[in-house]
Amino acid sequence: MAAIDAEIIIVGAGIGGLTLATICRQLGISYRVLERTETLQPVGAGISLAPNALRVLDQLSIYEKLLQASQKLRKLQIWRNNRRWNTLSLDTLEPTYGYPILSTERHNFHRLLYAAAGEGEDVVLNSKVVDVIDAPGEPVRVVLDNGKEFRGHIVIGADGIRSAVRRALLKKNDLNQGNTIQFTGRVHFSGITSPLRNCGAKELGVANWMLYDQAILTTWPCQDNRQWYIGVKKAEGDVDKNRSVWSSITPGDIKTVYGRAFHPFAEGGQFGNIVDKSERVIASNVFQEVEFPSMYDGRVALLGDAAHSMTSFFGQGGCQAIEDAAVLGNLLAENRTSLDSAHELLSMYAKTRESRTKDLSRFSDSFALLHTAQLPYGTGPFLRWLLYALVPTWFWVSYLGWLYRYQPTVAALDSNSNKPSAYGKKKA
Ligand SMILES: Cc1cc2nc3c(=O)[nH]c(=O)nc-3n(C[C@H](O)[C@H](O)[C@H](O)COP(=O)(O)OP(=O)(O)OC[C@H]3O[C@@H](n4cnc5c(N)ncnc54)[C@H](O)[C@@H]3O)c2cc1C
Repeated sequence: MAAIDAEIIIVGAGIGGLTLATICRQLGISYRVLERTETLQPVGAGISLAPNALRVLDQLSIYEKLLQASQKLRKLQIWRNNRRWNTLSLDTLEPTYGYPILSTERHNFHRLLYAAAGEGEDVVLNSKVVDVIDAPGEPVRVVLDNGKEFRGHIVIGADGIRSAVRRALLKKNDLNQGNTIQFTGRVHFSGITSPLRNCGAKELGVANWMLYDQAILTTWPCQDNRQWYIGVKKAEGDVDKNRSVWSSITPGDIKTVYGRAFHPFAEGGQFGNIVDKSERVIASNVFQEVEFPSMYDGRVALLGDAAHSMTSFFGQGGCQAIEDAAVLGNLLAENRTSLDSAHELLSMYAKTRESRTKDLSRFSDSFALLHTAQLPYGTGPFLRWLLYALVPTWFWVSYLGWLYRYQPTVAALDSNSNKPSAYGKKKA
């Protein structure tokens, strides 16, 4: 076979691509990450990371650094307008699943991943991929918009919901060439504040779900009592359905929707006073997957949002991209000597990941309907009240076992891990 630039070519330096790159780096597998932007630009303001994703970040020695710059969720308060429906204590999560839920600033998380993935050395910025060619008898070729090519044994498309790699696979198989994601008619507004001086120790680690009449909002605690918030409401007027993210939004735009709404941490009780402290705001359309593609074809595979975009209501899109990377990394480590004939390895990857990620994506859609009280036959408001106001914490913590107990890792990196394979007990 002709010479390769690296064994694994990863398209996209998002959460999934950088996690996989870090795994390859630690396993000593050569890789290149091709990223279209000139500087890394994580989407959104903050992110919550759950036990199912934190275990592999622990193996990669990212977890301890992340802990220092995050808050562990201690409590979740659920509000209907200005009335508190429930307070769920999340202190039992860590003893039950080995890890808590962490809330952190996205830029910080991305910086940690970028550093762990080798930064400039192996992450090639300003490299927009336009095609992938998987022809027999030669390495897989990745073509950039400037005509340059990179060659590898395996190509991983981790290039988000408008994935060019996914388009190339669909084109090769004569399938619908548009990405099969659908605009949900909802818009996100999110932002991160400077430290809130009026908040004290009792607000540390406290998240709030705010269920207003016309919109919903979640606020998450970050380091130093910064809050990141994410609101979702129905899109109004002329919305460009092809636009994922727009940063032209201002705090004033967010205040027109949420300015007068109640928030327990806001001075004067009005959320507008929190929005005023925003350091960064961003808006994005909410999409959902309509037709899940196969997660692999030949020597090319998809990872993260490129394979299974999901609504953000359940905060699992990034966690699933990390799980994908852990499963694929483990298979790469086990099949190190046969990476130049990768079909079987990638078929195993797809088999392991497809049903869980589909389930999660569908669960997120259903959860969105519950959260916004839009269930069939007008049952939404009642069922939401029943589940949110009356169900106790122990039930939720135990119910989430299907999601949090699965913590994929890379067996070959076990000596790096801070935890033994059974969760719950720290290594001495
Ligand atoms: C408002 C909001 C809040 C969210 N909150 C959470 C949360 O709390 N927890 C959670 O787990 N998930 C959350 N998510 C979901 C999460 O952000 C995504 O699922 C996650 O970012 C997907 O990671 P990824 O690596 O697959 O793709 P991305 O993060 O989208 O990264 C794709 C990368 O590929 C690059 N790229 C794209 N096209 C090309 C190309 N042609 N050539 C080269 N590079 C390219 C992009 O520039 C980008 O850097 C949220 C999403 C939103 C919108």
